[in-house]
Amino acid sequence: MANKYCCKACDYVYNPQRGDLEGGVSPGVEFEDLPENWICPRCGLGKEYFEPVVSKEEE
Ligand SMILES: [Zn+2]
Repeated sequence: MANKYCCKACDYVYNPQRGDLEGGVSPGVEFEDLPENWICPRCGLGKEYFEPVVSKEEE
């Protein structure tokens, strides 16, 4: 299942279904598959500052 990840610093949400077009990430790329040097497009922090978004609606 595709998981969204939220930046703990700025609340930016990475949605795998949308990707990150500004960062050159095509839609459909899972967060785990992002390059290690990928950074938050809003605040510039790295992947280690992201945590999974738990959506009860999808359970
Ligand atoms: Zn951020």
